[in-house]
Amino acid sequence: MSDPQTFTTTVLGTARIGRNRELKRATESYWAGRIDAAALHDVAATIRRDTTADLIAAGLDSIPVNTFSYYDQMLDTAVLLGALPPRYDDIADDLDRYFAAARGNADVTPMEMTKWFDTNYHYLVPEIGPETTFALHPEKVLAELAEAVAQGAPARPVVIGPITFLALAKAVDGGAAPLGQLDELVGVYEELLARLADAGADWVQIDEPVLVTDFAEGLPGLAASVYQRLGELSARPKILVATYFGDAGASLAALAGTPVEGIAVDLVRGSVESVAAVPALARKLVVAGIVNGRNVWRTDLDAALATLGTVLGSVGSLAVSTSCSTLHVPYALTAEEGIDDNLRGWLAFADEKFTEVATLAAALRDGREAVADRFEASAAALATRADDPRLNNTSVRERLTAITTADITRGDAAQRAAEQRARLDLPELPTTTIGSYPQTGDIRKARADLRAGRIDDAQYLTQMRQEIADVIALQEKIGLDVLVHGEPERNDMVQYFAEQLDGFLSTQNAWVQSYGSRCVRPPILFGDVVRTAPMTVDWITYAQSLTDKPVKGMLTGPVTILAWSFVRDDQPRSASAFQIALAIRDETVDLEQAGIGIIQVDEPALRELLPLRDADKAAYLKWAVDAFRLSTSGVDDGTQVHTHLCYSEFGEVIGAIAELDADVTSIEAARSAMEVLDDLNAIGFSNGVGPGVYDIHSPRVPSTDEIVESLRAALKAVPAQRLWVNPDCGLKTRGTAETVASLNNLVAAARSARESL
Ligand code: GLN
Ligand code: ZN
Repeated sequence: MSDPQTFTTTVLGTARIGRNRELKRATESYWAGRIDAAALHDVAATIRRDTTADLIAAGLDSIPVNTFSYYDQMLDTAVLLGALPPRYDDIADDLDRYFAAARGNADVTPMEMTKWFDTNYHYLVPEIGPETTFALHPEKVLAELAEAVAQGAPARPVVIGPITFLALAKAVDGGAAPLGQLDELVGVYEELLARLADAGADWVQIDEPVLVTDFAEGLPGLAASVYQRLGELSARPKILVATYFGDAGASLAALAGTPVEGIAVDLVRGSVESVAAVPALARKLVVAGIVNGRNVWRTDLDAALATLGTVLGSVGSLAVSTSCSTLHVPYALTAEEGIDDNLRGWLAFADEKFTEVATLAAALRDGREAVADRFEASAAALATRADDPRLNNTSVRERLTAITTADITRGDAAQRAAEQRARLDLPELPTTTIGSYPQTGDIRKARADLRAGRIDDAQYLTQMRQEIADVIALQEKIGLDVLVHGEPERNDMVQYFAEQLDGFLSTQNAWVQSYGSRCVRPPILFGDVVRTAPMTVDWITYAQSLTDKPVKGMLTGPVTILAWSFVRDDQPRSASAFQIALAIRDETVDLEQAGIGIIQVDEPALRELLPLRDADKAAYLKWAVDAFRLSTSGVDDGTQVHTHLCYSEFGEVIGAIAELDADVTSIEAARSAMEVLDDLNAIGFSNGVGPGVYDIHSPRVPSTDEIVESLRAALKAVPAQRLWVNPDCGLKTRGTAETVASLNNLVAAARSARESL
């Protein structure tokens, strides 16, 4: 058992979907009615037990519990605090109520989902209104604590903290900012701590990642008062406040001034100087997040040990940890095959990271010599990284050095519009779609068959071409003006490109949870990016050969490819973004040469990478915009560049959207009416714009009348020459019948609106 006074090795949390995505399968089976709740609980209990056993075996002396979740930790916290929205109150069964909040059911809408800080994990957004009351429901955390203790684990319950919970919540029912209810909520945490103490917990970890952000005013002050109050409780476990995803800045001193016993700091994204600058940390346990919990690279153990040595001088005691939960990385490198030895040697997934934590702690305790072999092995593996030619492609690097402003600048926008109008001869209020058409069972089966070797490349090609021909014929029949090929050949809008570009590794089993039961396998960007051959030209030109209408080429933009991959840590992200941008640029030029007159470069992730601190935002937006412009400025003025952004709350990125300088920007405005257009007008945006006229996230077919209505509203803000008519996102998740019906109505609405121009 651990020394209850302190501990030396831990992680802030772990994945919970299961090494083989057992939880995904089980929850989906439960939702489909194929298994009952007891069977689902069994799978969950096994995952928890295995995880705890793995952490014990790795040698960690404090083990996080309650980091398991059937769906999401913020939803769990809403349950813990009795703060589920009241619309689920009538659902008697706990599990069904929980899943109704997560996913909705026939009667109630789900809670909203959004990205967890700047990761690709999505959490459910708590809803806090004037009527919201809080009440403690500690069953889950107590049960998981008891379970781990019974297993012999030095268990440390983990909960999301009150500041983070409220700062990430949204105000509903006309309520003020949820943080206004902090005082009341802290009372529930007081009760929780008492219950955990009764249950024998030595430590509790309270996660406050919001303290590394500028999401709200006065966060350090809130940290000081909340943790002063919780710290003053007489019967409570020792408190570890965990900050992660960045530097806690002023909140670090605020926390250090309270009675809490421990503070976790992110030393991957945060700085050692911040720790050294807080003298009060000399009385605290600092949990040093030195092993990167959200990227896949092997830790440079000697550098890490040196950093820990520095920290050691300014803190009371020190524990080694990952920088955040390993929720964000795959389970085990050993589950991957076919990675060359060099590259494999540079990587560390969760299992390997646990070992790194233990190794570093052993070196601190017993000296580096005691674990010298592990240090040497690690250093030897990393040494090959420096001179691997794949990380140093001279031609790409020289090309980038030579880039000038002229290379990221197109001709005058009005001039371009005139040239494009003459070339494309489109009607006013042109109709189009965002790219993908329904990914039917046949399409998915063909891809699976190809992977399994049941069909060969030629058969696959024939089938995909047939899909494209069908989608082109369908669009002609519907009467759309700008057609697309439908993206049947793409498994995923990032992976499709990553698989074809040098510098990316695609994995087989490296799944991470995206939300609920949904998992993704982000490609690993490990080297310099080189496009060795055109990636989309054959498909698009084939589609174009079938019709006289213009077919829009379809590419994913550099920021989105970067955002949805694990990226190299040996150069700034901007450098990688520019390399990807060059590859996309070459593709646009090839498409243009092949006679394609319209090319869309999707950037749905532009806003996602926005830094957590205000001071860092301008620099990010600058390089993100430049990367997009680098990818799209290689074509002539007569080639029409579209972009697509998957959201309508532009807020801080609206200026950047204008600076992308796409000829046409389609946005997800169906649900927020036409406010977006007013916002764009307010900043003088004068290029083409397609605010989605219906919401593709629902199977509902919009009527012609309602689309006409929304076009009329839009025409008040934007002249017909600039207004495009399109759904608000790609159609890949929709069924064919509803898609055809919706698009028929969309075209009818555009025609009717044109008549009254
Ligand atoms: N072109 C993509 C599609 O239609 C865009 C998807 C997205 O915006 N996420 O599917
Ligand atoms: Zn979209």
